[in-house]
Order: sequence, then structure tokens, then C-alpha cells
Amino acid sequence: MLKKYAAKCVYCGRSRRDGVKLHVDHIKPRSKYPQLALEFSNFQVLCENCNPENRILMGNPPEKPVCL
Ligand SMILES: [Zn+2]
Repeated sequence: MLKKYAAKCVYCGRSRRDGVKLHVDHIKPRSKYPQLALEFSNFQVLCENCNPENRILMGNPPEKPVCL
């Protein structure tokens, strides 16, 4: 499926040629929007550095939760 795209990260613009791994991400999560799971406009290509899920795994989430 990646071949249908220019296959580069929508955030930083890097591609596999730049040595990053690319992921196809659902803009709206499948769990909440199952009807959009196969919707072409709901896909975006992210590299491993820009994928928010990976940031969380690396202990560096985009937004820190606030505990009161
Ligand atoms: Zn990126």
C-alpha cells in the first residue's frame, strides 16, 4: 500500500531512502471510526520518529498528562 503514496513522512518529509521506517497511520482511530478504516483519506504516512505511538513507547509523549 505504501507504493501508492510518495512514501514519505507527512511531518518531516523523510523517506526510506533517508533511513527511516515508515508507518501507515490512521488519522482517526479505527476503534472509534470503524467505517473509516479503509477510507483512503484517513491514512497518513509517518516515519518512526514522528509516529506519536512510538514517541510514547520511547517515554517521550508529545503532551505530558497533567496529574493533579
Ligand atoms: Zn517523520
